[in-house]
This record gives sequence, structure tokens and C-alpha cells, in this order.
Amino acid sequence: MANLILILGDQLSHRLSALEGADKDNDLVVMAEVHSEASYTNHHRKKLVFIFSAMRHFADALEEDGWRVHYQRYHPDNPAQSIEQVIAELAREYQPERVITTECGEWRLHEQISRSHKTLGIPVEIRPDTRFVCNIDEFDRWAEGRKQLRMEFFYREMRKKTGLLMTSEGQPEGGKWNFDTDNRKKWAGKPPAPAPFREEPDAITTEVIELVNEYFSEYFGTTEGFHYAVTAEQALVALAHFIDFALPCFGDYQDAMSDNEDWLFHSILSPYLNTGLLDPMEVCEEAVRAWHAGRAPLNAVEGFVRQIIGWREFVRGIYWLLMPGYARENRLGNSRELPWFYWTGDTKMRCMHKAIDATARNAYAHHIQRLMVTGNFALLAGVKPEAICDWYLAVYIDAFDWVELPNTLGMVMHADGGYLGSKPYAASGKYIQRMSDHCQNCHYRVQDATGDRACPFNSLYWHFIDRHREDFANNPRMTMMYRNWDKQKSERREALRARADWVLANIETL
Ligand SMILES: Cc1cc2nc3c(=O)[nH]c(=O)nc-3n(C[C@H](O)[C@H](O)[C@H](O)COP(=O)(O)OP(=O)(O)OC[C@H]3O[C@@H](n4cnc5c(N)ncnc54)[C@H](O)[C@@H]3O)c2cc1C
Repeated sequence: MANLILILGDQLSHRLSALEGADKDNDLVVMAEVHSEASYTNHHRKKLVFIFSAMRHFADALEEDGWRVHYQRYHPDNPAQSIEQVIAELAREYQPERVITTECGEWRLHEQISRSHKTLGIPVEIRPDTRFVCNIDEFDRWAEGRKQLRMEFFYREMRKKTGLLMTSEGQPEGGKWNFDTDNRKKWAGKPPAPAPFREEPDAITTEVIELVNEYFSEYFGTTEGFHYAVTAEQALVALAHFIDFALPCFGDYQDAMSDNEDWLFHSILSPYLNTGLLDPMEVCEEAVRAWHAGRAPLNAVEGFVRQIIGWREFVRGIYWLLMPGYARENRLGNSRELPWFYWTGDTKMRCMHKAIDATARNAYAHHIQRLMVTGNFALLAGVKPEAICDWYLAVYIDAFDWVELPNTLGMVMHADGGYLGSKPYAASGKYIQRMSDHCQNCHYRVQDATGDRACPFNSLYWHFIDRHREDFANNPRMTMMYRNWDKQKSERREALRARADWVLANIETL
């Protein structure tokens, strides 16, 4: 045999760099469901089903395409419990010339694979992951020498590079790079939100659901109602479903939240993009085609394209630029444990309950729930970054370290000093009231900041502003908040502090 080609669970693309130039007759593709990867955090059970099922379908597709595949199915007693052990066993058995793989999406595993040639005694070739618009070296070059790394400027470079939504004169379509000011509408039930794309479990997925229910019964969430796509063909149908039914309103209601609708007008494509079932450029090109055909407005399509070639590529660049130290950042000095209701949804705060409940059922919550509800609460309450990062990594079907970590540690917790935002996304209950109908069904009163029934977000917001004066008072984007805090009467400030202290001391009862 010539080579072992290692393909990981988020590398399910036929055009993966590790497969380039490989010899179907002599090389052996290796894929493995291993205990160490399945259990290093409290993964949502739907996430485990999705990844194992998509891996099994991909392995079958490779075999149908003529590849030789060694596939290890999960069993807790498998002798090989880690990727390294699987490779070591096969290397002993087949004596390959080398191991070939593609850069993985996590520093922890990247370290292990990078070192593995020492124990294996054969070369391990790690190829760049070409499934992104911007590769790691290109991002490093873009970042070099810049005082501040801002997504918006990076995004413009990516627009120019890809030509997406660019005129033939090299100008942004519609005369503006960004139409976000059009994208902040509250949703009041109309137009109706489309039902999400559903793919009923086939025999492979059903078998995986049984496996996960048997061996991962203590893990977060449920396998019930699993409806995600698990092949590239199905993911393309999910993309078409989004373009037809949700994209036209994606922009308008991008920041909206609802008490009754889990998915609103979001694409629900992140699981497929992150595992390689969909290609980011093909997704963006489809959306741009819909705009050209008059099937979706520019504010929606630009907003959607920005999320993918802007935010998604930017956070990946930040991750690889700053790891491994990045994961240890805690610039706001937070030390609080994660409140238990993050795992149970058992809280009287309606917005938190709704976001966590949807997360437990679907392994999904949309961006604004992640950022402005569960994230905002963790920021205001001063939860330890590592605890909240571990939660996000566990509970979402699309969560992989390279994308989860910068979003949580950076965008939400501002623990990195501000790579993902020039000011923290801290907000009081007023924001949640403005963008949703949660508050009208809540035990707490959003109009109150003090008193027993006052919305906890309100006093916590001022407590956050007050306790981080040294961190933010000189930030020009925060001046107004400090002015507002300072001009309140001292008794009012004391009452707000007292309410927030009570909230923090009794956080598990909220
Ligand atoms: C605290 C926190 C944690 C997050 N963790 C993850 C994660 O583990 N994995 C993940 O893919 N996204 C993560 N995000 C980003 C974003 O919330 C999800 O990508 C999005 O909710 C996925 O749902 P969707 O496909 O319906 O997205 P849409 O709203 O339809 O957006 C379209 C696509 O844009 C991309 N995108 C949008 N925003 C971001 C972003 N901030 N970073 C990266 N890509 C983005 C995604 O690929 C997404 O599929 C996180 C955001 C926050 C605030």
C-alpha cells in the first residue's frame, strides 16, 4: 500500500485536499468514529447523530466512487479509542509510505496529528484546507502590521477577491458594501416564517440514532425529531429550500427573535458548510443568482454573503492567527461558573428559557439568540470564558472549535480585548424587548430594573458597565453608556447595584 488518507468528521468533501492526486487502487482512506472525539465534551446527541451519519454516508459514497475505505464504527469497547490509535493500528498492519490528511479545525487535534509522525515512524503530510475562501497564510498576511483587525475591511477584500456582488467596474452592487441598517426589523408573525427543510432519517441515520441513544444517553439534548440533511445531495436541497422560502426575508428579520418560531428566516446551513457537505462559494453564488433573478432583495443577499465570506472566514483567520494562547484569554477577569439552567432551560427568564429549550430540542439556536440572549447573559453575569465556550461547543450541531471559540470568547465575552467587535455586545432587557415578543410572556418585568420582578438583564447591564469602567470608559463607543450611568442619581445607582448583587448571588434561582 502507498498511503493512508485520513479524513475527519468535518472533512466530508469529495474535493478535499487530502484526496488530491491519490491512487484509488493503492491508497486506503481511513475514517473513524472514535471515543475520544465523541466524548471530549457533552456533545448534543443530535450533533453526534449528524456527524456519524454524515460520515457513514460519505464513506459509502467514496466506496461507490471506487475508493478503498477503512471505516471504524463507534463502539465504546473499540481497541482504538482515538484517531492516533486508529492510524497507528493501520500503519502497523499495512506499512504505508505516509499518512496524508487535511488541516483540521481544532488546535487540540492539529497538535496531536502534527506530532504523530514521531510515534508512527512515517511521514505525516498535512495539506491546507482549500474549502475556505481565504487560506490561513493569506489571512496572516492581511492581518500583518494592522493596528486593528476589523471584519468589515476584511469582508471588502473577500468581495473583491471573489467578485461576489461586485459590478464590472469593481464597485459594490447597490453602491454600498453593507446594507445592515435595513436589517433590524422586529418580526410580528408576518410574513409567516417558512417551515425548515426536513430530511427524514433513512436506515443509516436510524441505526446511528439507536447507537447514540444507547451509548450517549447521558449527553445533552435529544435525538427525537432528527431532520437534518446527512449527504451533500440533501444539503443542496436544503440550500434550495432556504433560497426559495427564507432568503427573501433573511435580511429584514436577521436580528429578530420570536417566542413561537425557532428558525425564523435563517438558512440552517452552518452544519453542512462546517462539515464540507456544502461549499461556501456555491452557497453564496446561489444566493447572488437569486438576487439577479429578482427572487431576493439586495439587503438580504448582501447580508447573507457577508455572514459567509465575511464573518465565517474572519473568525477562522482569527482562530489560527491567535491560537493556542487565544483559548486562555480572559481579559475581563471573569470567574463565575456557568449557571446550571444553561443545561436544563429551567429559568423564569423567558428569552433564556426559549433559547435554551430550542437548543436542547434542535441543537440549533439562531445567531441573535446565541449572541444577545445566552451570550449576553453570560457576559453580563461574568461567566468564565472557558465554561461558556465549552457550553457552546457542546450544544450546537455546527460547533467546531475554529468557529465556536472566536464567536464565544471574542464576540460574546469580549475576553480577547476586542478582535470581534470594537465594543462588547452588552445589552439590557430593552434590546430583547425591541427585537422579540419574549418579554410580554415573561415572569420578569422588562420595564423595571430594580425590585423583585425586575428583568435581571437590566441591573446586570449597569453592573457590567460599572464594574468594567477601567476596561471601557475610554472606548469612544462606550462614552454614552458611562455618561448615562454617571448622570443617574446616586441612590438609583446604589439600588441598581444592590439588585444586581442579589441577582448574581441568587443566579441559580432566576
Ligand atoms: C456565541 C456564539 C457561538 C457561535 N458558535 C458557532 C459555531 O459553533 N459554529 C458556527 O458555524 N457558527 C457559530 N456562531 C455563528 C452563528 O450564530 C451561526 O453560524 C448561525 O447561527 C448558524 O445558523 P444558520 O446557518 O441558520 O445561519 P444564518 O443566520 O443563516 O447565516 C448564514 C451562514 O453564515 C455563517 N455565519 C453567520 N454568522 C457567523 C459567525 N458569527 N461566525 C461564523 N459564521 C457565521 C454561517 O455559516 C451560517 O450558516 C456562533 C455565534 C455566537 C454568537
